[in-house]
Amino acid sequence: MSNNKKLKLAVLTSGGDSAGMNAVVRAVVKTAIIKGCETWIVREGYEGLVRGNTEGHRHTHTHAEKGGASPRLKGAEFHEAESFIHNLRYGDGELLKDGTGDHPGGRTLKGRYIVRVGWDDVRGWFSEGGTLIGTARSVAFRTREGRLTAAQNMIKEGIDALVVCGGDGSLTGADVFRAEWPGLVSELHNEKRITDEQATAHAHLKIVGLVGSIDNDMSMTDLTIGAPTALHRICESIDNINSTAYSHSRAFVLEVMGRHCGWLALMAAVSCGADFVLIPENPPDADNWADEMCQSIQSHRDIGKRKTIVIVAEGALDSKLQPIHSEQVKEILSERLGLDTRVTTLGHTQRGGRPCAMDRILPTLQGIEAVEALLESTPDSPSYMIGVRENKITRVPLMDAVKMTREVAQAISEKNFEKAMSLRDPEFRETLEGFFATSRLESEPKLPHHLRMRVAIMHVGAPAGGMNAATRAIVRYCVRQGHKPFAVHNGFVGLLEDNVHQLSWLGVDNWPTRGGSELGTNRKLPDIDLGAVAAKFQQYNFHALIMIGGFEAFSSLLILEQGRKYYPAFNIPMVHLPATISNNVPLTEFSLGSDTSLNALVDACDAIKQSASASRNRVFVVETQGGKCGYIATMGALASGACIVYTPERGIGLDMLRNDVKFLKRRYGLDAKGKNEGRLVIRNEVSSDVYTTDVITKMFKEEGGSLFDSRSASLGHTLQGGIPSPTDRTRAVRLSLKSMAFIEKHHEQLLKQQTRSKQAPPESAAIITIQGTSVQWVPVQDMVQHADMKNRRGKKAWWDGYQELVEALVARPQILAKG
Ligand code: ATP
Repeated sequence: MSNNKKLKLAVLTSGGDSAGMNAVVRAVVKTAIIKGCETWIVREGYEGLVRGNTEGHRHTHTHAEKGGASPRLKGAEFHEAESFIHNLRYGDGELLKDGTGDHPGGRTLKGRYIVRVGWDDVRGWFSEGGTLIGTARSVAFRTREGRLTAAQNMIKEGIDALVVCGGDGSLTGADVFRAEWPGLVSELHNEKRITDEQATAHAHLKIVGLVGSIDNDMSMTDLTIGAPTALHRICESIDNINSTAYSHSRAFVLEVMGRHCGWLALMAAVSCGADFVLIPENPPDADNWADEMCQSIQSHRDIGKRKTIVIVAEGALDSKLQPIHSEQVKEILSERLGLDTRVTTLGHTQRGGRPCAMDRILPTLQGIEAVEALLESTPDSPSYMIGVRENKITRVPLMDAVKMTREVAQAISEKNFEKAMSLRDPEFRETLEGFFATSRLESEPKLPHHLRMRVAIMHVGAPAGGMNAATRAIVRYCVRQGHKPFAVHNGFVGLLEDNVHQLSWLGVDNWPTRGGSELGTNRKLPDIDLGAVAAKFQQYNFHALIMIGGFEAFSSLLILEQGRKYYPAFNIPMVHLPATISNNVPLTEFSLGSDTSLNALVDACDAIKQSASASRNRVFVVETQGGKCGYIATMGALASGACIVYTPERGIGLDMLRNDVKFLKRRYGLDAKGKNEGRLVIRNEVSSDVYTTDVITKMFKEEGGSLFDSRSASLGHTLQGGIPSPTDRTRAVRLSLKSMAFIEKHHEQLLKQQTRSKQAPPESAAIITIQGTSVQWVPVQDMVQHADMKNRRGKKAWWDGYQELVEALVARPQILAKG
């Protein structure tokens, strides 16, 4: 038996609540059980540790059978989980989820702050906002005496490892606690509050931190848990305000959370197309910021804009560190510009609500990593903070991250704003530049005449969230630089029909929030008549082309690039900006629309799951789009807690289905009596020609007998989503501006060629890809090597392996191995 089997692990949430904390608790509890640990949750953050348990355990332990196998999670070596079934349920998760801590049956959490939980106690938690285990700001834990009692309470329960999910304060507390631990143990021992054995067994504390904070203010991680959901809430509010602002031609000043960090304010400003933003990291000049703001807003009004949105971060400052309040901004706009101005402080609405897809997936991956880190921890290793960098889950020394975070506030207080910006990740600066580029109207174009271009913008393939936001950003940038942006409506068919119009700065104003494709899109490739397409390029004298779309846009770019040999009109810079809900463009990890689609899927699955639980034990087979790419099905399964996922990459076979039925039967057999459990199965629509959604649903229904029933739901085009998600909107702006910089560079290089007919180099026809957080250009010729042209997807998928993770998180290997 491994030592790790003995690890007794507790998880707590602390500081301000944030969406995604429940996903952390769920993932930590599940992973720890799979790894053979015993698991506790601590209610009310550190306060719960200090209060401990004054009442005895009263758990109803429904399953005491032994069994289980050795599962694998993401290739990591897992320890025997002989106690898996034993750990299925303690029944206390239900009490927590009730929100009462009390139960008519007599079970109660009164006087119990450190509660043993099992696998099923955290079922379905991650669709809930906030934290079900409670959080607090504990004064007692700030004192040594409080921490001494906390240590005693943990030792009493036998707990030797702690997962803390909270902000920088909570993580500082965690580090203090660990550093003090040996001293606390020896004091408890000397005072005979613990036995000799306890003192020896608990000589070291293992601790790991995860950042739960809506502000996204922690250094050394790209995204904190809860920040994406908070951004969703903010954008929903602003989107709603937009319509009333437009109707009455009003100005709105919106105050959003963020004491030392303007992330939420900035991302919201870019996502919603605000007119002005005030954030602490980039304070405006104290002497003339009001003039600058009024000038900018007046220039928008002068060209006919009816609404004005100014976003103010809670901690906004001017360059002399004087706070800028939303009321002050309102007075300036009312008095100087005569605008009918209202203030809306979003307050706590920003924290709440159901977590978005990203706040389910990332906390799950981070929770798994947290348990891994604890299992690998030694007395000499530092306490780690789990974060996200370059789309990868990371471990960094906890105190380094806290120290760096504090340096931002310090830099601001010392008026070293350059340093404050540099301590944020590079994306933050790029987003700020993106905001300026898309919100400021210049009196004169920035580029000299000879560098100005006629830029064609086209949507190709199916619509995807973010296409319009990208187009808006391109148009705004073009106007600023002096280029002429042309919309080619309805793809290559529209081009041949002369469906081409110049777009204006104001004309695209409302586009960020619009789903679908404002330009109209078409799946036809340019080879419908390449010669005629070239003639149109020549007729309109296009100097550059940006195609926003999926695999068709990639294929089109390839055809155009190859056509350069025959048609000089294609010797211009040409860009493909991936936008498709299928996320099937090779090499890029995320295409525009994939996040919107995942959120649409999660919303639908939450509703379906509710119905599945309410009706009777029902398995819903949910069919998704995605072409021959299983991305949306797999990530959707991870984000919705589905128990089975079918993808085209893996296909569907009879043996697989036999095991699926076996799994479902056993799983339903283990459910608590009288409890209706709904379960989800997600199937990509082209996973198999034979085992269709209908066949699988009928098979489950037939085989489920008295245990479970089955129904199907096809999400179809709903997955294109309505309003694009904030992530897709901000990503659209970032990638569009990079695309413009790319074509400007290549255009200038072409101008330098002395020959009469210009020859564009192959690298000037390229796809903009996200690989990690770095954005990389891939020439279309190189991209071909990475593409599976027949199946219209990449040869390698970065999310390969996540299917196993979906199965691990429902304990499929253990349940199937049970005799
Ligand atoms: P948010 O970002 O939402 O404010 P936070 O974790 O930073 O979250 P804090 O109130 O700073 O919130 O900290 C939460 C709790 O962590 C405190 O109430 C306290 O119990 C504990 N804590 C914070 N700092 C320390 C410290 N230096 N020593 C011991 N405990 C601490």
